[in-house]
Amino acid sequence: TQIMSRGLPKQKPIEGVKQVIVVASGKGGVGKSTTAVNLALALAANDSSKAVGLLDVDVYGPSIPKMMNLKGNPELSQSNLMRPLLNYGIACMSMGFLVEETAPVVWRGLMVMSAIEKLLRQVEWGQLDYLVVDMPPGTGDVQLSVSQNIPISGAVIVSTPQDIALMDARKGAEMFRKVHVPVLGLVQNMSVFQCPKCKHRTHIFGADGARRLARTLDLDVLGDIPLHINIRETSDTGQPIVFSQPESDEAKAYLRIAAEV
Ligand code: ADP
Repeated sequence: TQIMSRGLPKQKPIEGVKQVIVVASGKGGVGKSTTAVNLALALAANDSSKAVGLLDVDVYGPSIPKMMNLKGNPELSQSNLMRPLLNYGIACMSMGFLVEETAPVVWRGLMVMSAIEKLLRQVEWGQLDYLVVDMPPGTGDVQLSVSQNIPISGAVIVSTPQDIALMDARKGAEMFRKVHVPVLGLVQNMSVFQCPKCKHRTHIFGADGARRLARTLDLDVLGDIPLHINIRETSDTGQPIVFSQPESDEAKAYLRIAAEV
């Protein structure tokens, strides 16, 4: 209610960027960054004429550098803006490029906000059809600040099918609604595990939690991503599955989601 009574500050588009899609989650560890990375790659793969960027505003735990196999310091352009780093055809910017890998990320309050301001306003993206933004987990100041500062086409909320994750996903959906960001839908991650040996399918975190939540919140389910070792391994080695195994069922699940947004 405080947010509403203060009113929304003026939003300013990011220069050159047509559509901003944020990927959010109620809690950490549910696969938000993995989804953001593969969604960015899938948007580009579904339509090769589209230019796609990936912005990591998860300032406390940036994972985009590792997942996209990128490191280094962004160069400055003539107008003193940071140039994104490029891999697999995706322009990327992350707090991880601006600090030492081993440096503890102890920013608080204003320092986090000035970092966010930098990431939102001081990057020379060029022309982008989509900018996929990897949000920090939860519904804190960073999420609010991003939502209030730039126009967002839609939010994708990632959750596992467990009640605890879903409760937090619900808070996320409600926050976006409060700040007038359209919620495109839920991605149900780690919904099913298929034994590679016997092919038996197990719903480790419950079967259809996200679908039930989507129904109560009147949201769409954009898709289901199975729990699969190839997703974890390709993420951890910086070779995201949509890039490295585009023909796999797991990659196809991301490609279908990208076609929905
Ligand atoms: P978050 O951004 O929500 O904290 P991550 O995307 O970093 O979560 O994922 C957490 C861990 O789970 C990573 O090691 C990632 O590779 C793994 N992971 C995410 N989604 C899947 C999946 N569908 N199958 C297997 N592993 C996954």
